[in-house]
Amino acid sequence: MIEAKKYQCFKCNKIEAWNENWSWYGSWQEMDEGKEVITFCRQACQITFTEKEKIEHISKEDLLIEQEIEDYEAVLGEAQIQISDARKQIARLKKKLSMERLKTTI
Ligand SMILES: [Zn+2]
Repeated sequence: MIEAKKYQCFKCNKIEAWNENWSWYGSWQEMDEGKEVITFCRQACQITFTEKEKIEHISKEDLLIEQEIEDYEAVLGEAQIQISDARKQIARLKKKLSMERLKTTI
């Protein structure tokens, strides 16, 4: 027999299999990625979840998102340098090309 996954209440630490009294706080993305979301065993526990606790949870998630954005911005910055360098090289080569043509035509 397969045992149902047990969840722990964020407020009272009760451990139980999910049932209709349970609720969760988090994002669908966290859920999809298999990350721990905050769970409550009953409404009485959920309503004591404070704004401060929400902010703490959100900022943890935000920090990870911000880090990921920074990583992509670094990639973008690097790519822009490469594009700029490539343009300079093309310009230099085109200039050289016309100079060579000039040399052969005179
Ligand atoms: Zn509880």
